[in-house]
Amino acid sequence: MSAIDLAASVRRGEVTATDALATALRAIDARNDELNVFLHVDRDGAEARARAVDDAVASGRDPGPLAGVPVALKDNLCTRGVPTTASSRILEGWRPPYTATVVERLVAAGAVPVGKTNLDEFAMGSSTETSAFGPTRNPLDPERVPGGSSGGSAAAVAAGMAPLALGSDTGGSIRQPAALCGIVGVKPTYGLVSRYGLIAFASSLDQIGPFATSVADAALCLEVIAGHDPRDTTSLPEPAPALVDHLDDGVAGRRVGLVSELVEGADADVVAQVERAAAALEAAGAQVVRLSIPELRLGLSAYYLIAPAEASSNLARYDGVRYGRRVAADELGAMNEATRTLGFGDEVKRRIMLGTYALSAGYYDAYYGQALKVRTRMIEAFRRAYEQVDVLLGATAPSVAFRFGEKTANPLAMYLSDVFTIPTNLAGEAAVSVPFGTGEAGLPIGVQLLGPGRSEARLLAAARVLEVAS
Ligand code: GLN
Repeated sequence: MSAIDLAASVRRGEVTATDALATALRAIDARNDELNVFLHVDRDGAEARARAVDDAVASGRDPGPLAGVPVALKDNLCTRGVPTTASSRILEGWRPPYTATVVERLVAAGAVPVGKTNLDEFAMGSSTETSAFGPTRNPLDPERVPGGSSGGSAAAVAAGMAPLALGSDTGGSIRQPAALCGIVGVKPTYGLVSRYGLIAFASSLDQIGPFATSVADAALCLEVIAGHDPRDTTSLPEPAPALVDHLDDGVAGRRVGLVSELVEGADADVVAQVERAAAALEAAGAQVVRLSIPELRLGLSAYYLIAPAEASSNLARYDGVRYGRRVAADELGAMNEATRTLGFGDEVKRRIMLGTYALSAGYYDAYYGQALKVRTRMIEAFRRAYEQVDVLLGATAPSVAFRFGEKTANPLAMYLSDVFTIPTNLAGEAAVSVPFGTGEAGLPIGVQLLGPGRSEARLLAAARVLEVAS
């Protein structure tokens, strides 16, 4: 059942939140051992929340727009008293003393957080294979990855373990797993959703967003979590936008730009679906033009300087003193080193080294400084494109879900999974991945709709057109 229908049924008293939770827990119990989706299932907390929703309904109080809807949370979102690991050994055993704003807002809207989902360690990866707690399997084909880094959240929704999930997207970590698991994923405008309580990877790029099986569910979830939060200094000073009310706005009269750089190098089955999506938008009244934005080709290189640079700084706090795990040693420096050596996995260490190098005296201008200039050029290139068109169209990922181990030997091959998604993060803008057709082995393909900052209503309306045409 969709989140919207479930919440409506709970609000009318036809289904209890407790029964909705039991259904979710049965789906989790049936497949979690096989798929490794949840690192932690918070049964007691969820049951208490569900009872509170049922009490509200019984006593005639408004239980909220997501009444009784089970939600899965990426395990880099802090939940007070509930283990939060970012899939890293260095945080094993840590229980945050506070809760992320997005989780508070979901709960205030009546949703029921069921547990914490697996991710690539500190959200660094595109397959969940860098998790310290083993990879997540794709529910559609357990021999393949679900994408990443929010692979557990995408798999939870695709496997019917929860109608909604939250992920975080620094370079594509919501959109790419959504595409590989055949569901909807939204990367909101930077600042639209509070990052308070999100374990930081690259703070100028990180943004939290929803996974859902339908565009309407994703829109409702985003409405609930968006809006100004004084606890995040980068939060936009405005209320959440109206999204659900605009879902049926359509695309008549809209100008859509099919961007060559957002399909080049993709597999033929992916390119075919993007072309079919362009035709579907045209059939719905949009005017489709073909564009080239050459600056987008620089995105990957700039991202792999900026994101590791910020990560090396953000991850300095894991010193064995303040959080989670400590490896004992005779003196402080040795303890820091032993803790970090054992606590971090290879990909995290690679990023810390890349980032530290890019920021080091003598190389700062050549690497980090250059990358910031590229970022500015990219923002300007997008701005020029949006003078011509309202929405950009491309692929979300270059291929359907790939097999385990296929890209682990070569970091660059893995990094290329995000070549189409990274530019949006660098520009701080919005993008949606919506399932559209299938490719190799009958696996789902996602197409990506991109827009300027605060264009979520427009993007979701266009995604809705594709959902109907799909
Ligand atoms: N796959 C990209 C990376 O490894 C993006 C990750 C993300 O968006 N969190 O950095």
